[in-house]
Amino acid sequence: RPSVTFDKVVFGYDADRTILQGLSFEVPAGSTLAIVGPSGAGKSTIARLLFRFYDPQGGRILIDGQDIARVRQDSLRAHIGIVPQDTVLFNDTVGYNIAYGQEGATPDQIEQAARDAAILPFIERLPAGFDTEVGERGLKLSGGEKQRVAIARTLLKNPPIVVLDEATSALDSRTEQDILQTLQRVSQGRTTLAIAHRLSTIASADRIIVLDHGRVSETGSHEELLRHD
Ligand code: ADP
Ligand code: ADP
Repeated sequence: RPSVTFDKVVFGYDADRTILQGLSFEVPAGSTLAIVGPSGAGKSTIARLLFRFYDPQGGRILIDGQDIARVRQDSLRAHIGIVPQDTVLFNDTVGYNIAYGQEGATPDQIEQAARDAAILPFIERLPAGFDTEVGERGLKLSGGEKQRVAIARTLLKNPPIVVLDEATSALDSRTEQDILQTLQRVSQGRTTLAIAHRLSTIASADRIIVLDHGRVSETGSHEELLRHD
């Protein structure tokens, strides 16, 4: 499992406005770092830079010590799975949506891959599970069910790094807790970057940084940050 390091990263979408002001943090291999902060702080920008939708103007981003600017795009993307807040599913079965991106694999192979990636707990309660032919269509699923499908689809590819970009923020808190607990159960040892805006949702993260105007304003465990509130 790789580590992820931001080393004095400077970035702005436009030359006249800097979003990240020399941002540094590390996600040790196999741990979970949560990034919280107000809307507009630059949280999603971090995810976009890690995926190289953009490149920083200063500093470096490293995966396992290697500058991602020197990693081939396809190799980089195979390493990182992102789960966004608003997943758009195909209006097809749950099975089709989960298996999307695994063209050529048989249902048995998909199911085996799902076992290997330990994602069955995400799917067992969904209508018709892996069956690509029958079951509820994507657009009819609830918000929580959609996010379960999105997470299952991402984890099925077994990426060593997972980025949750407000993946559960839009859900009611019971559904959110339910999904996070399942995530915690299945992703032991995965390197995870969890972007959130509620402190309550990231209680299980190993470490939390609070981002404010593109800088780390506080860092600590959940308990330490609550004490400062
Ligand atoms: P957060 O995820 O913390 O809410 P973002 O990383 O999405 O914040 O955005 C940080 C800042 O960058 C915001 O002020 C936002 O308006 C600006 N921004 C985001 N995307 C773009 C873009 N594509 N072009 C210009 N500015 C952007
Ligand atoms: P342990 O200390 O037992 O390894 P962690 O708190 O590190 O437990 O969590 C284990 C896994 O659960 C992490 O690798 C991560 O993938 C996942 N995880 C933990 N907290 C969250 C969270 N808030 N959001 C998403 N995934 C999480």
